[in-house]
Amino acid sequence: MIEACGVTKKYGKTAALSGIDFSIPEGELFGIIGPDGAGKTTLFRVLATLLLADAGRVSVCGFDAVREYRKIRNVIGYMPGRFSLYQDLTVEENLSFFATVFNTTIEANYGLIRDIYVQLEPFRRRRASALSGGMKQKLALCCALIHKPRVLFLDEPTTGVDPVSRTEFWNMLDVLKGQGMTILVSTPYMDEAGRCDRIALMRNGRFLTTDSPSRIVERYEPSLCAVSGDAMFPILKDLRKLEGIHRCFPFGDSHHVSYDGSRLGLGDITAYLEGIGHAGIAVRGIPAGIEDCFMELSPEVESV
Ligand code: ADP
Repeated sequence: MIEACGVTKKYGKTAALSGIDFSIPEGELFGIIGPDGAGKTTLFRVLATLLLADAGRVSVCGFDAVREYRKIRNVIGYMPGRFSLYQDLTVEENLSFFATVFNTTIEANYGLIRDIYVQLEPFRRRRASALSGGMKQKLALCCALIHKPRVLFLDEPTTGVDPVSRTEFWNMLDVLKGQGMTILVSTPYMDEAGRCDRIALMRNGRFLTTDSPSRIVERYEPSLCAVSGDAMFPILKDLRKLEGIHRCFPFGDSHHVSYDGSRLGLGDITAYLEGIGHAGIAVRGIPAGIEDCFMELSPEVESV
């Protein structure tokens, strides 16, 4: 449904996309996970035919993004990260506007948006600017769906939205996927990776890896532990000095530490920290999550 081959885009000297390759079959929910500046929005704009790549090839539903961009625009729904709604228009007016642009009506495609729209209906005469983040997000999704697209591009739809609305949003995507829609969604939240069939971890304009979330986690090689203690920042700096430790980064109320299990054990790490005077040390082995995989694949990042 979506094919990208060698897609490259520069803004002046900034390489926003550096040779992106991927292919997404029909009905897949594919996630692009990466921090701010990774290149997610640029990639969406190229796929949605709003921006021309400097090099490479893109096709959506078999249509070429350069020669057949008009055909692509008719079969995709695009929910940009910001500014997709007209803030001065009401809920109903926003929907009618997007329906008219695509030469259709709200009624004609009501079936597809019904489950989402019923939650918005009590506010249908309210201006978009006066809606909560979660409601804005639902309206933006309805607007992107109003012409029954075959492919849905959602650029950071859950950024800045409360956790309950985030969960509800992913539930809605599951329903759409169940109806056969192909969905490409980006997010900076690593905990949302598990909701996707496959993900690409993206950084500095490149895909670091592409696979199902479970296979990415299974491929994680080093040993991993969580370390906490009384003086967290000095502990972080001291851990980075210990031979056999690969990477170490703050994660909630502990540090995640990847290390060479053939050279070090949990007891060695505890003994090292206590030996140089740290108090309250707790070290426990943990399974890797997507964030750990991301850090291991980004050798240039030394956090904090
Ligand atoms: P993301 O969506 O992952 O935050 P973007 O695609 O917005 O990433 O940005 C990728 C890189 O390109 C960043 O370094 C960003 O500063 C740069 N960039 C994005 N848009 C522009 C632009 N219009 N002009 C110059 N640089 C840009």
